Amino acid sequence: MSDVRQHADEIHDQFSDHIDVAVEDVEERLRTLVDEYKVPMDEARRSVTNHYLEAADLEREDISRGGSEAANVEDVDEPEQWIDLTAKVIELWDPRSDSVAQVGLLGDPTGTIKFTKWAKSELPTLEEGGVYELQNVVTDEYQGRYSVKLNSTTVIEELEEDLEVGNDTSEIEGALVDMQSGSGLIKRCPEDDCTRVLQNGRCNEHGEVEGEFDLRIKAVVDDGLDAHEVIFDKEATEDLTGLSLEEAKDMAMDALDTTVVADEIMDDIVGTYYRIEGPTFGRYVLADDVAELDGPADPEQLLIKARSM
Ligand SMILES: [Zn+2]
Repeated sequence: MSDVRQHADEIHDQFSDHIDVAVEDVEERLRTLVDEYKVPMDEARRSVTNHYLEAADLEREDISRGGSEAANVEDVDEPEQWIDLTAKVIELWDPRSDSVAQVGLLGDPTGTIKFTKWAKSELPTLEEGGVYELQNVVTDEYQGRYSVKLNSTTVIEELEEDLEVGNDTSEIEGALVDMQSGSGLIKRCPEDDCTRVLQNGRCNEHGEVEGEFDLRIKAVVDDGLDAHEVIFDKEATEDLTGLSLEEAKDMAMDALDTTVVADEIMDDIVGTYYRIEGPTFGRYVLADDVAELDGPADPEQLLIKARSM
């Protein structure tokens, strides 16, 4: 059996109980993406799966035989699984596409996960802070990060209780190998609830504004296995560098240039080893607790650990 056919079979299996679709149709869609548009298979699979999710226009009675299982956020470690979640809406973000009705972050006691709700699914609107039982959501994976999709088969029930949301706390030990642009002395939009970082004095949302100074570092920390993106807010940056926001502003004023601050910080931290602990948000770890290390604690030990993983 060809590779494409096998992928088509797997996608078809998910939907065959729900909608009338031929496996040849699934295969055809995959082939078009992979052969004609040179889309990598995992992306083609996502795209085709999403197509059928959106297309699925099911009778509610069908859901009972959907066979989704109750799960916690931390259990999500595979795409294309049909699950039930009880979760709180922590944040809603602005959808970037007309096909998306709502997008944001869900949380339960075990962690947080991104969710997407299709416009076509015509589901009730989720409110920030609301706790919901979500039956029949499907998991997705993109570049190693998981999310759930609310689709037309999803049943949403609002609960009257509150739900404690746990952090996905990470601990990283490794060398700070790079500092990204947008670090150092930056300016943020002063509009209510905006705080976007200005680019050349402009906010993406509010145009030209009088920005407010802030300090932050976006760093890359390499633990020998993976590179992690870590964000230090003002307090964490001040603690890490010993440079206060006021001192940074003075430095920039003297030099008539804000980039001197980033340069100084970079010299100070790149190449240093740290142990960093903090909550994970999407691809970022927020540095809550930082300790400087002398170097790789024991290179030999690290290597053994790396090999055994
Ligand atoms: Zn703004």
